[in-house]
Amino acid sequence: MARSYNFCAGPAALPEAVLKQAQEEMLDWHGAGLSVMEMSHRSPEIVGIAERAEQDLRDLMGISDDYAVLFLQGGASSQFAAVPLNLMPEVGVADYVNTGQWSKKAIAEGKRYGEVNVAASSEGTNFSTIPPVGEWQLRDDAAYLHYTPNETIGGVEYFWVPDTKAPRVVDMSSTILSRPVDVNDYGVIYAGAQKNIGPAGLTLVIVRRELLGRARPECPAMLNWQVAADNDSMYNTPPTFAVYLAGLVFQWLKEQGGLDAMEQINRRKAEKLYAAIDNSPFYANPVEVASRSLMNVPFTLADDSLDKTFLTEAEAAGLLNLKGHRSVGGMRASIYNAVSEAAVDALIAFMQDFEQRHA
Ligand SMILES: *Cc1c(COP(=O)(O)O)cnc(C)c1O
Repeated sequence: MARSYNFCAGPAALPEAVLKQAQEEMLDWHGAGLSVMEMSHRSPEIVGIAERAEQDLRDLMGISDDYAVLFLQGGASSQFAAVPLNLMPEVGVADYVNTGQWSKKAIAEGKRYGEVNVAASSEGTNFSTIPPVGEWQLRDDAAYLHYTPNETIGGVEYFWVPDTKAPRVVDMSSTILSRPVDVNDYGVIYAGAQKNIGPAGLTLVIVRRELLGRARPECPAMLNWQVAADNDSMYNTPPTFAVYLAGLVFQWLKEQGGLDAMEQINRRKAEKLYAAIDNSPFYANPVEVASRSLMNVPFTLADDSLDKTFLTEAEAAGLLNLKGHRSVGGMRASIYNAVSEAAVDALIAFMQDFEQRHA
């Protein structure tokens, strides 16, 4: 049986080596006589697996002891509420930048808990740009600045860090681990796991410890970062199997050479794909060149009546999940860490062949 190439935006492709290792260890993990899924979360096995996963992540991203690493549940979407509940005073304001569908959801949730200052928005360009930082209307009294370094749906990515007084709080769901970042630039980094970390069900939060202890009294214990930190992310039953699998992905990333090596591969993959799109009158990507995502590449066909045929033929060629998000249409190729350069080459070859036959 041959595995297809999977360009799904999330849950996304996982490294085949990781899936194989999980398969080998499925019934009897390291001679323990049972599967990871069946172990108590208080057992030394699970505690060891979680500690190793955390250490490998710290090594990969260069996370210092000034930061707590939390393995939570509820997805990035529950962090849209956790962020204001943990950081925004009852009478307070926070800055948000609106660059797409995920920013919008974070803003909508933030508004339930306090004043949201939308400091800048690219809705006017249909989210194909990042608003020039000189135009951002930041508030001096903001508790934090929230933005989305990679908009998974629009395919817009920041390759720079904005100047602010307030701590930067970022939703890195679809860009985390794709290239090195300086964690010290951020107050909080959060991410759903199902793009570039592991299976769905795990949510990662990296928070500067000095920002802990500010949660509002009404903040549910399950969303309270301090509670999670005090309990080593085991306040309740954590998603043990997802943590285990994420840990295998972290080990795999280290074997690939870490995030410097991943960045080189990811840049090569993205450059090829954008070049194939730009060099053809048949395909188009709407995003300003400087802000094109390394991970999510939306593209349209000159004739959208061919969309269905494109998807059917792609699937027959072993290229899965290329349909664009329902809010934008067209196609989208998500080319996360686990999507190999061979997969991108196969996609480009298919696109060129399709164009020849249908243009
Ligand atoms: C996928 C995604 C989300 C939603 O994540 P869930 O884990 O499903 O809540 C939020 N933000 C970004 C940037 C995403 O890519």
